[in-house]
Amino acid sequence: MSDHSDNPCLSCGACCMTYRVSFYWADGDARGLPPALTERVNAHIACMAGTNSNTPRCAALETGPGGHVACRVYAQRPDPCREVQVGDDKCRHARARHGLPALS
Ligand code: SF4
Ligand code: SF4
Repeated sequence: MSDHSDNPCLSCGACCMTYRVSFYWADGDARGLPPALTERVNAHIACMAGTNSNTPRCAALETGPGGHVACRVYAQRPDPCREVQVGDDKCRHARARHGLPALS
């Protein structure tokens, strides 16, 4: 999910409901992610809570008025969230999985 003012992510959130959002476990503490919003995967890897599932949905994803979505930990979000860009392969795959058209 990315952050622009006329941002299609605000009515999407598909990438937060498609992938396991995993990172080196110490990065969560380093970024200040609340432990309750992360899960340990193994000795080295943690992930955002709710994303280590066949039907992932990040515990930090909020749905607000008008169906807008937002990340509760936007400033602290881990690297995988920062890497997805609107219109890239991961974005297209996530949107297709949720029945949404590709964005350029
Ligand atoms: S799938 Fe694409 S448009 Fe949707 S929230 Fe993620 S980056 Fe934004
Ligand atoms: S931390 Fe935020 S941007 Fe990353 S998957 Fe969760 S809701 Fe989406």
